[in-house]
Amino acid sequence: MGPRRLVLATANDDKVAEIRRLLPGIELLPRPAGLPEAVEDGATLFDNALIKARSLVEATGQPAVADDTGLEVDALGGGPGVHTARFAGPEAGYADNVSHLLEVLRGSDDRRARFRTVALVLTPEGSTVWAEGSVEGRIAEEPRGEGGFGYDPVFIPLDGDGRTFAEMADEEKNAISHRGRAFTALAARLEEL
Ligand code: IMP
Repeated sequence: MGPRRLVLATANDDKVAEIRRLLPGIELLPRPAGLPEAVEDGATLFDNALIKARSLVEATGQPAVADDTGLEVDALGGGPGVHTARFAGPEAGYADNVSHLLEVLRGSDDRRARFRTVALVLTPEGSTVWAEGSVEGRIAEEPRGEGGFGYDPVFIPLDGDGRTFAEMADEEKNAISHRGRAFTALAARLEEL
């Protein structure tokens, strides 16, 4: 029987809402207010998830759950990858990043892309379990839909019917998304801790 209570490394409300649905039966404690953001300078999604989890474990003494996501665009050689959150610059918000992505792909026929997430739990004793999830898709020509967050208005999953993630209900997105797949796999591994 693994931990039933985890501190969430993310303070991003969009992600908190998704993760709560994806880890039923686990008590998720919010990230303590005022804790400075960890510097995500890892070379991989795993490294960055571990950096985030470690800072929470050190601050709280409790097991923590963290995740890191990258958008990998084939025409950009797999980028922006670990730079997904700040693709359009250090202060970039979701809309800036989406505009920048559409701009750099303008006129490109190759719009293949995927989201990849690493989700990880770290205990105060130093044990880790982790899982990865990904979803293949393509980048739309224009944003569509009001749901989700981040790049959702321009991401069309291949497993879907042509709608972007932002045009789907939350449950529909979670059922096939990178984060959905990563956290479902992580939940199944928690008892290893
Ligand atoms: P993070 O590592 O989970 O913070 O994600 C990095 C960036 O990827 C976020 O700032 C978002 O722009 C983007 N992102 C993460 N998850 C999603 C998603 O489910 N849909 C769309 N964009 C996402």
